[in-house]
Amino acid sequence: MLAAFAALAFAGARLAFGDRVGVPDVAVEVERGLRPIMRRQIALEGTVVEEQVVTGAFSALLARLGPGLGTLPLEPEVVVIDSPVVNAAALPGGIVCVYTGLVRTLETPEEMAAVLAHELAHVESRDAVTQLAREIGMAAIASAVSGGGGTAAQSLLRAAIDLRYSRTAEDRADLRCLELLEEAGIAAGAFADALERIAEVGKRTPDLLRWLDSHSDIDARIALARSRSMSATGSRRPLDVDWRAVRSGLPSVFDAGP
Ligand SMILES: [Zn+2]
Repeated sequence: MLAAFAALAFAGARLAFGDRVGVPDVAVEVERGLRPIMRRQIALEGTVVEEQVVTGAFSALLARLGPGLGTLPLEPEVVVIDSPVVNAAALPGGIVCVYTGLVRTLETPEEMAAVLAHELAHVESRDAVTQLAREIGMAAIASAVSGGGGTAAQSLLRAAIDLRYSRTAEDRADLRCLELLEEAGIAAGAFADALERIAEVGKRTPDLLRWLDSHSDIDARIALARSRSMSATGSRRPLDVDWRAVRSGLPSVFDAGP
C-alpha cells in the first residue's frame, strides 16, 4: 500500500519526448476501455475524496469550462486524491486527477478552474493516451484493456502518472487554457495567480511540488496569462463555489493546511 501510494503521490523525474514525432494513433475505443481501469486502480492505490462539498465544486468547475471544449471522445471526469502533493494530472481515459495538496494551495475557485483548464486542454488533445502509447507501446495498453489483470493495471497507472509532455504540448495546453478561461468568463489572470502560488510551494516545500516542471519558464507563463487578462474584452462571471468550504471539507490527515 505504501509503495503504491508512493507511485501515485511521488512520481519522479521523467523524460519529455519530442512533440508529435511518431505519434501512435490510439483508437478512441481503447481510450474508453482505459477509463474504468484507471478509475479502479486510482481507488486501490490512493484515497479518493468523496465529500460532496468537494465533488460538487469540481462538477461546477467542469460545467463552467466544459462548453468551451471541442468534441471529446469521453466526457472529462475529475478524481480528487487525498495527498499532500501539489499536483494535477490528465490521465488516459479522460480522467483528471487533482491532489488535495493543490486544492489547499490555491486560494480561489478561479485559480482551481485555471489549473483544471490546463489539464482539460491535455484531455482535449488526448496527450496522455498518446504519450502513454509512445512510452509503453500499444500492445501493453491493448493487453491491459482486454483484461490484463491487476499488475497490468498497476503498471499502467504508474506510467500514466509519470507522463511528461514536450514543451510544445505544454505551451499549447497553456494557450488553450487561457482561451477556455476567457470563454468561461474567468479572468486569465487566475492562471497567473495559480502559477505564482504553486511556485511558492516549490520554494517552501519542493518535495511536495509535482505540477511545475523545473525546466519550464514559469515567468514567461505568468507574463502570458497576465497580458491575456489585460487584453480580454469578454465579461467575467464569478464562480458560485464556496472555496473556503471546499478546503475545510478536505479530509486529509497529512497536512492541516492554511
Ligand atoms: Zn501540462
